[in-house]
Amino acid sequence: MNLHEYQGRELFASYGIPVLSGRVATTPEEVKEAARELGGTVVVKAQVHAGGRGKAGGVKLADNPDQAAEVSKAIFRLKIKGWPVRKVLVAKAAEIATEAYYGITLDRAARRHVIMCSAAGGIDIEEVAAKTPDKIVRHLVNPKTGLTREEALDISGRVFPDESHAKQAAEVLLKLWKICGEKDTSLIEINPLIVDDAGKVLALDSKVVIDDNALLRQAEMEGLRDPDSESKWERMAREMGLSYVKLDGDVGCCVNGAGLAMATMDLIKYYGGEPANFLDIGGSSSPEKVLTAMKIILADKNVKAIVFNIFGGITRCDDVARGIVGAVKKGKIDHPIVVRLTGTNEEEARKILEESDVDVVPAVTMDEVVQQGIRLALQSKIAS
Ligand code: GDP
Ligand code: MN
Repeated sequence: MNLHEYQGRELFASYGIPVLSGRVATTPEEVKEAARELGGTVVVKAQVHAGGRGKAGGVKLADNPDQAAEVSKAIFRLKIKGWPVRKVLVAKAAEIATEAYYGITLDRAARRHVIMCSAAGGIDIEEVAAKTPDKIVRHLVNPKTGLTREEALDISGRVFPDESHAKQAAEVLLKLWKICGEKDTSLIEINPLIVDDAGKVLALDSKVVIDDNALLRQAEMEGLRDPDSESKWERMAREMGLSYVKLDGDVGCCVNGAGLAMATMDLIKYYGGEPANFLDIGGSSSPEKVLTAMKIILADKNVKAIVFNIFGGITRCDDVARGIVGAVKKGKIDHPIVVRLTGTNEEEARKILEESDVDVVPAVTMDEVVQQGIRLALQSKIAS
């Protein structure tokens, strides 16, 4: 789960990382009011779950409240990487002397947290990482000791030549590490971590991603979820206990188990097709879950055929068959549906499908269900 910059800044502030004060606003009038309260030069920043806001015109300085309202009008009209801007952060502007990058994420290969820092921070850090990786200081954290003060000082000393800056940045890094552990972040990043004209180190941006698998024990983080950041369909899937990721292809997939769902997508690709989604209906099953899954898959207008690849274990094939029949009847679905149901109660499932007047193409093997799905998707594309 992604936090917005303003939420990340509040989190930083609560751990003692220096940030400049700010206010969230949703209209140019509110921006004006916020700028008046803050006083002096402010920066108006789009709050969307996308990086590169600066380059997209989503970060603008303003010298007075009227100007702040004016620049915010342009920002509210933006769509940044597909995200409409509904909120902006109005913050006191900093005078920047230098911009560094500080971040902690996971190195899955090393099975450790990795700290990455660079003196070449700012808006082009991805380019720095790609073209001049030697400008990035990398440090794998020993999970037994955690990040020590000595290490934090050593890392920061390699980024900031000035000792006072390095000391301040080391404190910031230790706090980032603390947040990472206490809030289960999979990514926590400050870009830029600046030195201002008075020699003070400040976090001017935040990017915080909470590991979704930790949300059970991070209940207060759940409250920070932005309802606008999920489509109606993604929310429906989450609330129903389905894992759904929309993709760009035309073969809809309804599968049980993440591994089988991945394998099904791989096989679609292997046979020259394009999966429209990843969808795992999970271990337990119920006709309602299948109904919701079909609704979600079909909300995507690119979908031309649906493939059911169910390996019945705890998931019962008859439940899935009932769900398919119910969905087709209720939803008046005329998309071609290919069904492979194998395992628990498969005979009963076959009977349910046969006895219904619902038109589905049966398949026995995984290869078959996928190949049929691709063929039917292609056919209905040509027909439409
Ligand atoms: P991003 O482009 O989405 O990463 O947004 P940032 O918050 O990092 O802002 C992009 C750039 O805008 C920064 O790298 C700074 O150069 C500039 N910027 C942001 N806030 C301020 C500020 O308070 N003062 C000044 N002078 N520049 C700022
Ligand atoms: Mn940034």
